[in-house]
Amino acid sequence: MQPRCRKPASLKANGEYAKSCESCRIRRAKSCKRRRAALVAEGGCRRCAYRQRLEGDFLCRRCRDDRDAERAQKRQDAIDAAAIDEFAAKPDKAHRASNLDMGVSIWNARPPREPSAGYWAPLPDPVPKQEREWEQSLWDTGRRLR
Ligand SMILES: [Zn+2]
Ligand SMILES: [Zn+2]
Repeated sequence: MQPRCRKPASLKANGEYAKSCESCRIRRAKSCKRRRAALVAEGGCRRCAYRQRLEGDFLCRRCRDDRDAERAQKRQDAIDAAAIDEFAAKPDKAHRASNLDMGVSIWNARPPREPSAGYWAPLPDPVPKQEREWEQSLWDTGRRLR
């Protein structure tokens, strides 16, 4: 609630409505900046502006610790990301036999046998039955069997 002003609220950068109008926000931001600058000029921390700086430093003790923690976290994140990338870049390899497992691994297993298409749908004979003369005896016509 901003009692000094009845102008419509402005939109923030993320699309939400701000609590007050554009000019009031600018005015308050300027005031905040002025106050921070005054505090820093009196020896306030450059980051929080409310605690005194350390000797020969531009941050207070707490901001210094926070920044060190952030840097350490960022470095650890970079190390983790590098390890993940290295792992992802490695090609998939079959299991290597060792003295312990003697090469027994699901990764070395043969793929299961599958019925081939020829089992279910055999191809037709390449030579038609009538032309297979090598099946017929020259002397025995097979008449006695009929
Ligand atoms: Zn306003
Ligand atoms: Zn500080």
